[in-house]
Amino acid sequence: MVLKQTQLFPLESSGCVKLPETGAKKRTSFRGSYSHTKLSVYENCPLCYNYKYIEKPEHPIPFTSIEAFMGSRVHETLEYLYKQIFHSPESGSDIHEILCYYKDAWNKKMSDDVKVVKEGMTALDYFEQGEKILKDYFELHAPFSEDRTLFETDNFNKEKPFLEKRVDIVIDGYKLMGFVDRIAEKEDGTILIHDYKTSGTLPAVDTLKNDRQLALYRIALDEKYPDAPKELVYHYLKFNQDFYIMRSDEEIEQLKKDVVALIRKIEKATEEKNFPAVVTSRCAWCEFATICPAKVKKDAEGQSWKPEIPGDFRTETDEVPYIFDKDLRARLFIVPDYVFRIRQK
Ligand code: SF4
Repeated sequence: MVLKQTQLFPLESSGCVKLPETGAKKRTSFRGSYSHTKLSVYENCPLCYNYKYIEKPEHPIPFTSIEAFMGSRVHETLEYLYKQIFHSPESGSDIHEILCYYKDAWNKKMSDDVKVVKEGMTALDYFEQGEKILKDYFELHAPFSEDRTLFETDNFNKEKPFLEKRVDIVIDGYKLMGFVDRIAEKEDGTILIHDYKTSGTLPAVDTLKNDRQLALYRIALDEKYPDAPKELVYHYLKFNQDFYIMRSDEEIEQLKKDVVALIRKIEKATEEKNFPAVVTSRCAWCEFATICPAKVKKDAEGQSWKPEIPGDFRTETDEVPYIFDKDLRARLFIVPDYVFRIRQK
């Protein structure tokens, strides 16, 4: 039986929305397992892909970049915030509690493995960046009533909100796995696929229009809920801007073909053991930099890579005509074949 959209997500007294059981059976054998991150690592540097997913050498020096560390703590804190709101919709109004959680998580998880790469920056600078991100996010989104986090019920009848939700999809026999930061639903039935970015670079419009990560997550939700419209929501937290994008079915089909073509390229490289190094400014953050011959050679030649971005933030945002909607506190961008809007303070 095909459920009407309004029947898909009946409102519950908890203030959240329950996902129906689909009963769909999962496939158990695949031609290979990938993720958006894994594909990106290959695209950026095949040698890094080889180290990370095939050879897996011991790390002479354990390394976590401070940027990744801060990003993880911010993600955890937003997960905590929405968990609070899920279990008690009237909560989540205390920014001090949220910041305490962030500080506590930072202190508990900080270790000597966390390294600051950018010259002139300290760990405290990054801690404060995270604090500012959370304050700004809170100010932009409180009282958090714009959508409702979806959930499922586990075997013990406990409601589990879709926060850091694992999704699996299969394209042409290849399994792709990912974690969605938050899946929610608006009152009109649109599903929102939220992703938090702590990057210091604002993307160009074309970059977002062609983004693979959230489009893959959309495929996972399309399979379960084919009738519900879906928006991809990118929260560029350092800029306090949210980008909302709808992708067409044709684009999604093209994306599937592109993903399969990329996977086949990786398989061929694996067969031929052909993983060239691609040395860029990214190497400064690469966990294998100390054992990578290409990087070591460049360093010996005195061509060590320093970050190319001396300041903190930069923007690549395209100039796109927009109208201002003060009710939504958003700029609405109308781009052919897209509804593209940006929300900011
Ligand atoms: S240091 Fe640079 S070239 Fe070497 S593996 Fe890492 S990203 Fe690739």
